[in-house]
Amino acid sequence: MTYIADLHINGQWVSGETEERFAVIDPANGEQIASFAIASEDDCLAAVEAASAALASWSATPPRVRSELLRRTFDILKAERETFAEIIVRENGKAFSDALGEADYATEFFRWFAEEAVRVPGDFRLSPSGDKHIVVTHQPIGVALLITPWNFPAAMATRKIAPALAAGCTVILKPARETPLTSAYVVEALRRAGVPAGVVNLVTPVPTGPAIAKMLHHPAVRKISFTGSTEVGRVLLHEAADNVVSASMELGGNAPFIVLPGADINAAVQGALIAKMRNGGSACTAANRFYVHSSLASDFTSAMAKELAAFRVGPGIDRSNQLGAMVSLSERDKVAQLVETAVAEGASVVVGGTSSSQGAFYDATVLTGVEHGTTITTTEIFGPVTAIIEYTDVDEAIRMANDTIYGLIAYVYGETGQAFSVAQRLEAGMVAVNRAVLSDPAAPFGGMKQSGLGREGSSEGILEYLEEKYIGIDL
Ligand code: NAD
Repeated sequence: MTYIADLHINGQWVSGETEERFAVIDPANGEQIASFAIASEDDCLAAVEAASAALASWSATPPRVRSELLRRTFDILKAERETFAEIIVRENGKAFSDALGEADYATEFFRWFAEEAVRVPGDFRLSPSGDKHIVVTHQPIGVALLITPWNFPAAMATRKIAPALAAGCTVILKPARETPLTSAYVVEALRRAGVPAGVVNLVTPVPTGPAIAKMLHHPAVRKISFTGSTEVGRVLLHEAADNVVSASMELGGNAPFIVLPGADINAAVQGALIAKMRNGGSACTAANRFYVHSSLASDFTSAMAKELAAFRVGPGIDRSNQLGAMVSLSERDKVAQLVETAVAEGASVVVGGTSSSQGAFYDATVLTGVEHGTTITTTEIFGPVTAIIEYTDVDEAIRMANDTIYGLIAYVYGETGQAFSVAQRLEAGMVAVNRAVLSDPAAPFGGMKQSGLGREGSSEGILEYLEEKYIGIDL
């Protein structure tokens, strides 16, 4: 396969002023699959200038025209879903089925926001005193800087690019260093669909921080949308404060998965397998802490152990494998270290707990005897490790579930009425009741507490890139 591995500035694929490159590695075998152009700070500023120059005409382009360009991008990526998925697998390592799922989810954002582009709301009414008419319109916020992580290299990019373009903003995308090829493929699809030069730019600065800071301090940049760790999100919020740049943040998670006493155990196990193992556990939405009622804990643990011991682990490119590689050896070693710490803090390994000798693989793992408050329950695991904590009192399970700085997503399995009332008491932006997958372009995705600010997807996603303007008219 040939990859696009250059910067995209003002409608051109360019190698950057220094012509230096960094290696993109297939984590399943450690081989280099591409060398990607490094963007200098000047390249990054050139991308901002290009986005700024394109803003006036793009924001004045009729919504229907912008909508059709997004729809064409949807058609291109849908027709090429297998290639799209293969690029994701090669640079990220995930199982092919996970990559196909991501490709479809990512592509859907172009269709959804093609539909939203022509439905931006407004308001017109007489003021209560009758002295004027109140007109409320929405205008594109301006140039948007979009920063994405490696775990969903396609979807995290399209979930930002599609609403930004639908709103009339121009963008600079900064993908993660581990996974830039998927982003380049998306940008090329937009170019092939006919999106004009300067509207979508892509840069990959090394090191990242100083170049991003330069861009964030450019007066044309009015929006930052970041998906990644809470730690980096905090740094960016501080930097955005200097020029009061609008910030949307999709940050880390530490999702509780609560199995209530009345739960259907088979449904809970099937849901747990998906909530834990989708994307190899490298998901902000991955279930991190399993609070299982003591009446079901032993059955739940043995069923999870049986299922996960049979999981096929190997290169994602081989479609029969259910669990691919982690994105890098260092990510794998972080997970191995967390499991070692959990054992030192009193947990027992039921299955797994082992790394491969070659490639960045870590076996599906089940831990029991985990105590709430130990390291594995306070850290985002980001790998295929199921940590089971027994409880006896539902109020106590809710207290433990909420005992975290994060609040992205939570899962509850149980009798519907009880599960719904527990869902209402959980401090999370999203709660899955008796199901394991929530992400949907039509639903608001986002977190409470230190899991983020703002929402992506749904009819709200486009509002993150629009500013309300009130015009009072004396008619
Ligand atoms: P990360 O925070 O290390 O990196 C994310 C992006 O930020 C990358 O592009 C990286 O190059 C860039 N970056 C790093 N340092 C920077 C700096 N100083 N200034 C500007 N940019 C910088 O996260 P990651 O390891 O790539 O991804 C995993 C994290 O992402 C997890 O915490 C996960 O929960 C989170 N995540 C959240 C969501 C969500 O929607 N809430 C979705 C996916 C991933």
